[in-house]
Amino acid sequence: MGGGDGGRDSPEYLFKIVIIGDSAVGKSNLLSRYARGEFDPHSKATVGVEFQTQCLEIDGKEVKAQIWDTAGQERFRAVTSAYYRGAFGALIVYDISRRSTFDSVSRWLDELNSHSDTTVAKMLVGNKCDLEDIRDVSVEEGKKLAEAEGLFFIETSAFDSTNVHKAFEIVIREIYDNVSRKVL
Ligand code: GDP
Repeated sequence: MGGGDGGRDSPEYLFKIVIIGDSAVGKSNLLSRYARGEFDPHSKATVGVEFQTQCLEIDGKEVKAQIWDTAGQERFRAVTSAYYRGAFGALIVYDISRRSTFDSVSRWLDELNSHSDTTVAKMLVGNKCDLEDIRDVSVEEGKKLAEAEGLFFIETSAFDSTNVHKAFEIVIREIYDNVSRKVL
């Protein structure tokens, strides 16, 4: 329905999206940059799961994305199945200046896949692309891995905002397309 204000309190779609990846790759900062427009150089993870919601409109439909941050659980290798449950989208994040975080991507993907029983829209995110001087993983390597695993790929910077909105919005759009394809 165009123009009316009905449905403002209850979105037509509610999508859960999880952010995963090694510690300190910038997961919390990507989320706060996207949801609140903030970057916190001294961010310290609070243990316990946290999520933020973001509302947007796609094809005239109100969509609410509920985006979960591990909030430090991954430090203890204790990301629980409850974290993954019901997720329709995932951002798998590494730090382009730290190769070990890129090497961990397949482990995160295995974990995600073992917990999901539905189609999950997945985006591989090479964060901290502002740190070009100390780059440790090339753009081509990121692209190649994404292609091999059937993921979207993007490089972002939570620090200077590069591609942050785009990363989340591509995932949200893909979930919307997956869901509406199923409904039709
Ligand atoms: P998390 O543990 O994956 O949630 O990572 P955080 O969001 O807590 O970030 C870890 C550290 O990396 C913090 O010191 C951030 O300030 C820094 N950081 C996060 N994103 C970026 C980025 O895009 N560029 C740069 N240069 N630093 C970042």
